[in-house]
Amino acid sequence: MLSFVKHEFMLKENEKVKIIIYGTGKRAGLALDILRGKYSEQEIVGFTNSCNNSDNQKIFGKKVYNFSEIVSLYRGEEYYYISPAEPTRSEIQVILEEKGIDRTHILNYEEVEENCIGCEDLDDLMVVGDDALYFCCSMPGQNIAPSITYRESIYETVDAFLNEKNDIIRQLKQSSGPCYGCVKTVRGGIRKSKKTIDRLSIGLSYPCQLACSYCTWHCNSRNIKKYGDKQVKKAYQIDVKGLIQYLEQKEVFSDTGTIFIASGEITISAKRDELLDAVGNHPLCVMSNGIVFNKRIAQKVARMDGSHIEVSIDAGTRETYKNVKGLDAFEKVKETLHLYKQEGANIYLKYIMLDINCTDNDIQGFCGIIKSIGPQNISISFDYNCGQNISQNVLRGIAKLSKEINKLGLACIINPAIGKKNIEEINRCIDLK
Ligand code: SF4
Ligand code: SF4
Repeated sequence: MLSFVKHEFMLKENEKVKIIIYGTGKRAGLALDILRGKYSEQEIVGFTNSCNNSDNQKIFGKKVYNFSEIVSLYRGEEYYYISPAEPTRSEIQVILEEKGIDRTHILNYEEVEENCIGCEDLDDLMVVGDDALYFCCSMPGQNIAPSITYRESIYETVDAFLNEKNDIIRQLKQSSGPCYGCVKTVRGGIRKSKKTIDRLSIGLSYPCQLACSYCTWHCNSRNIKKYGDKQVKKAYQIDVKGLIQYLEQKEVFSDTGTIFIASGEITISAKRDELLDAVGNHPLCVMSNGIVFNKRIAQKVARMDGSHIEVSIDAGTRETYKNVKGLDAFEKVKETLHLYKQEGANIYLKYIMLDINCTDNDIQGFCGIIKSIGPQNISISFDYNCGQNISQNVLRGIAKLSKEINKLGLACIINPAIGKKNIEEINRCIDLK
């Protein structure tokens, strides 16, 4: 017997169904892992999205179908799981219903307050920073994250955050408040069923050995050398363990809520083990520079619940790595990635394309790493400090890298925050012979 999320809908005993994941973006792998754990008896056929996909495109080893192909193959008997977060999840839900898919065939169907304006971050995210709890990550030139500065105790701060969240949602309904006018708001972005935290992102200034050219964190080796470790000490004061326990106790952070560790470098943090203890059974996503291997992290990110480690390599040669990252650690990172692979860790590789790492040599070198590691996910991003003002060289580099990745029979995600105009230019470069 199988009970489905939200509907508590039951399949007939021993009934076997086909499940399709809608969405091929960053959360597609997470969705696949969740389904494999939750519906292990059922067949997860592959992925679909709103694009025209080429015949042989695959992600996570499964085919990406055109939606029309799915419909003609399974004729409405199939079930869907929508992978993107709100508000895209709700938009896809509406699209599927408009295409005649019964809502009982949408495994993660949820009712949404249709006439209300919201945003996916406001809906389910809490970001733990050095000075405050934030409702999202600010995007330079686009928005400023609303926040609650730390109070006497972490408990008071959490209570104030949850009250403020309700207040902001209420104000948005009246077209006012700190989120009103933000580019990320859309109609229908607030779920009726659960006003909880589903994503907890730890973004504290734990120290990092690197000094990436694009990094503005207080905690990179360049800034620690220049300004001292005052900010690192501040980050160490934040009681993340107490915060997680309090959220759980208040029942606003469910067991399936994901913890993201994007703090400087967790593998060398004095708070590493305390934080890993606090993570418990929550799905865990670790952003690491990949220099130091940690067995506990490897074991945690090997679980099939969306957990993974993400390493942004940003180079395909030793020289470029040193140039971009400020340390001669290219070979060490490759070695560490192999150790994570041996432990069965889910590995996500990332490439931040810059003017100094977009040569053919780098692109080929990075593709070589992809071949030897076999990551579950590959993404290409850009330097946020440039806003959407990206050079032609970088756009061409992104196009070239994504083309090379496709030649390996793999898909990659280009960070949509790069903007529509830049995406169009990348697509134009991809189409050039
Ligand atoms: S609406 Fe904008 S400012 Fe408000 S939480 Fe969402 S992304 Fe942040
Ligand atoms: S690895 Fe991350 S924290 Fe370290 S310098 Fe690079 S961007 Fe900054």
